[in-house]
Amino acid sequence: MPENSHSGCNLPIVVIGAGPAGLMAAEILAQAGHHVQMYEQKPSAARKFLMAGKTGLNISHNEAFEDFVQRYDQPDWLKPMLAQCDAGWIQDWMQGLGIESYVGSSGRIFPVQMKAAPLLRAWLNRLKTLGVQFFYHHYWTGWQDDALTFLHQEQVMTVDAKAVILATGGGSWARLGSDAAWIPLLQAQGVDIVPLQPSNVGVLVPWSAFMQPLAGQPLKRIKAWVNPELNDDHAKAISGEAVISHYGLEGGLMYRLSRELRQQLNQHPSAHVYLDLLPDIDQFALAHKLKPSAKQSLNNIWRKAGLDQAKAALLREILPKADWQNPQQVAAMAKCLPIPIVGFRPIDEAISTAGGVSRAALDQHLMLTHKNGVFCCGEMLDWDAPTGGYLLTACFATGREAAHGVMHWLDQSLP
Ligand SMILES: Cc1cc2nc3c(=O)[nH]c(=O)nc-3n(C[C@H](O)[C@H](O)[C@H](O)COP(=O)(O)OP(=O)(O)OC[C@H]3O[C@@H](n4cnc5c(N)ncnc54)[C@H](O)[C@@H]3O)c2cc1C
Repeated sequence: MPENSHSGCNLPIVVIGAGPAGLMAAEILAQAGHHVQMYEQKPSAARKFLMAGKTGLNISHNEAFEDFVQRYDQPDWLKPMLAQCDAGWIQDWMQGLGIESYVGSSGRIFPVQMKAAPLLRAWLNRLKTLGVQFFYHHYWTGWQDDALTFLHQEQVMTVDAKAVILATGGGSWARLGSDAAWIPLLQAQGVDIVPLQPSNVGVLVPWSAFMQPLAGQPLKRIKAWVNPELNDDHAKAISGEAVISHYGLEGGLMYRLSRELRQQLNQHPSAHVYLDLLPDIDQFALAHKLKPSAKQSLNNIWRKAGLDQAKAALLREILPKADWQNPQQVAAMAKCLPIPIVGFRPIDEAISTAGGVSRAALDQHLMLTHKNGVFCCGEMLDWDAPTGGYLLTACFATGREAAHGVMHWLDQSLP
């Protein structure tokens, strides 16, 4: 059990939540010579970070910085923080930990070994060498007067700190630790919290029984958009891949539309995603390829025109049967297929959550305006971004900012 009777400037700076944001904050503070204690409810650190590395840890993205910041819903807020912690900084930082990285063909940055575990191991070793103390199985439950309260081995304990960084994550994959139980604790302090919503998550489509056997089939090299007017401006449509699932659609392309879909679904009971199933061919040329022929089955004509099994099934699902022999109708639909979306998968399945501690509740250094000396960082803040390395980059960047904020605040508070 940590010492809980410190006084004055010997008190530690306490970081709560050993995910990527909290670990980054702890590193900056410890490097500057501060006494840092890290409290984590789970028996080990960064479980979601490890999960993120399971299928390849996409840690950042090397697109031009001005484009990079526009991926976030609040670019003006995050820009100064991201400027201090951009993709180049992250690659150098990884190299300093002995982890080589590479830029994939899509611009996404991964560790060469793809997994998160070697990086996490090296990172934790560095933090321990810097003197950061780790206290696992410590569940933060709020404050008693000015002291932090934790539940540890069924006992309530208090910890005094000279400053606190909360890095307790969003509200998805609760079994990995981010259970969002911090929300009522902060609301009780008068902190404004934007309700959490699933982001980067599968969408619900009211498929007929006909689509069920298609679950798991990929829709490759398609374009998608939410706003119907974009049909006239395909440059703004997003290219990528989706996967048909028993409940709707999954995959990176759908995740990138999460924000727009959420906005629509917040106002209407349903929305539409529009798909261009064959972006490399124009509608006129496609209609020509789809002309009926006495010698060929409809299936064959569609397949030769580029409509594989999954794309053909989607067309059959949406287009009335009476139109299947009409090449103009089929081509028009293949180039702009409206898929009805009626909701999202549950928040716990989401890769990330939008919402959280509102920007208005924080000063420019991420300190709660209602709670002096308490800073917040990572996914618990109210920002949103697609997957593709943007989530982790913002967690690192806000972790760094909170650490610098603590040091700035301590400097100012010194008598
Ligand atoms: C399947 C999956 C794949 C992903 N892939 C990617 C990817 O490729 N690229 C990318 O950029 N992002 C990815 N992400 C998202 C990324 O992992 C998260 O955005 C990131 O981990 C959030 O970091 P954080 O430090 O803010 O919070 P978290 O990583 O959630 O860490 C919060 C920590 O706080 C602890 N905690 C919470 N409450 C308390 C409490 N009361 N007391 C004590 N401790 C507490 C938790 O146990 C946890 O360890 C993925 C996420 C998932 C689920």
